Order: sequence, then C-alpha cells, then structure tokens
Amino acid sequence: MSAHHSGIGMTSQRTRMRMIERLREQGIADEVVLSAMSTIPRHLFVEEALASRAYEDAPLPINFGQTISSPWIVARMSELLRANARLNNVLEIGTGCGYQTAVLAKLTDKVHSIERIGPLLTRTRIRLHKLQIKNISLKHADGLLGLAEAGPFDGIIMTAVTTHVPSSLLEQLVIGGRMVFPKGSQKQNLCLIERNAQGYTETILEEVKFVPLLSGVER
Ligand code: SAH
Repeated sequence: MSAHHSGIGMTSQRTRMRMIERLREQGIADEVVLSAMSTIPRHLFVEEALASRAYEDAPLPINFGQTISSPWIVARMSELLRANARLNNVLEIGTGCGYQTAVLAKLTDKVHSIERIGPLLTRTRIRLHKLQIKNISLKHADGLLGLAEAGPFDGIIMTAVTTHVPSSLLEQLVIGGRMVFPKGSQKQNLCLIERNAQGYTETILEEVKFVPLLSGVER
C-alpha cells in the first residue's frame, strides 16, 4: 500500500463517520446498513488519485467507463433490499468496484455478484480478497440471465439502468423476496419489485442516475 493510501487510511475512520452522519441527515434510517458502511474502507474502492474524495456524497469514475455509486445510493438500495430483516441469499448484478458487494456481504449470509466486464471484475476480485470478505461469489457473465443455480434469492439488486426486467430473472426471487434497481432511460427512478403469492408489486421511488445495463460480456 502506498504512503498516499495509508495516509488516508489513518484519517478515514473520522471521515467515514462524517459520511454516516450525513446519510442519517439525508433520511437513511436503517442502522444496520449505516453500521455496515461505517466499517468498509470506501477509499480502497476508487483509484488512488480519487481516494481523498471517496467519502463525498457523489458517484466517482472507476475504470472502463463505469462509476462507483454514491454513498447515499448504496445506503438507500441496501435499506430497501433489507427491509429491516437479515437477508440469506442475495444476487447483485453489476459488481463494478465491489463497494456495494462489500456492504451487502455484511447484511446477508451470501452474496452472488455478476459483472459483464472481465478486467474490471479481475481487479475487484483481488480487492475483495485482500479485504478478506469471504461470503461472496463473483461471476463474469451477463447478469440479466440471473443465476438460477445459486437461487432462489431473497434479494436481487441491480446497479445499472434498464426499462424492463425479464420475468425469468424475477422468478429467481423467493415468495416475499425483493428486487431493487434503477428503472427508465433518460429519466430514471429507483424501482422496488416485491414478489408475493399472487405475483409482483412494483413501487417507483426516488429519481436517480445510473450507467446503462448492457447485454453480453466484455473480455
Ligand atoms: N455497484 C457498482 C456499480 C458499478 S456501475 C459500484 O458501486 O461500483 C454498474 C456496473 O454494472 C458496471 O460495472 C457495468 O459493467 C455493470 N453491468 C452493466 N450491464 C451488466 C450486465 N448485463 N450484467 C452484469 N453487469 C453489468
């Protein structure tokens, strides 16, 4: 680890607690989510040159034209997915730098995360391994297909925007399970889909801004 990174590491706990305070002021109420985010070194998930900005409430560029979601987005999606209960088995689509994955790992017994850009996933794999996060399994694939062999899931979270979620993916939810994702194209909103015995209900929430969901994989 470079001097620059470890220097930030020394002050990061304080900076992180200010981020948590801000999230609380911005309406995040799930203390389990806030507590998880207070322990994860977000500055290690961005490029060194941006590490000093890692705790700002903003998305930042990672690599390959992708972005790390802002702390508020990660917190909000996590609390929507959790609905105040510990999760068992979660599917994440769009691993990116792995920050949301690391947060989810604290909220659930097991996280399966899928990323379509191979070299991005390789770096994330190394990062999460160094942080010794063990209850995750990463896969290089097109996430829209889901991961039926590892399901069913009590939560599915997708961090790239689309207008439509295939029913084959929603069928990988347990009855009582929830999916959270950005829905739309130009105008986007967080969308919560809940599966019940009769079918699915959809709730449209805050306006957001995400990179697009793409099909196929990049090597
Ligand atoms: N939660 C991530 C968000 C990264 S941005 C983070 O905070 O770092 C969204 C990610 O979704 C990108 O890495 C992008 O490559 C990925 N993605 C887009 N379409 C996908 C698909 N069909 N399957 C899997 N991943 C996809």
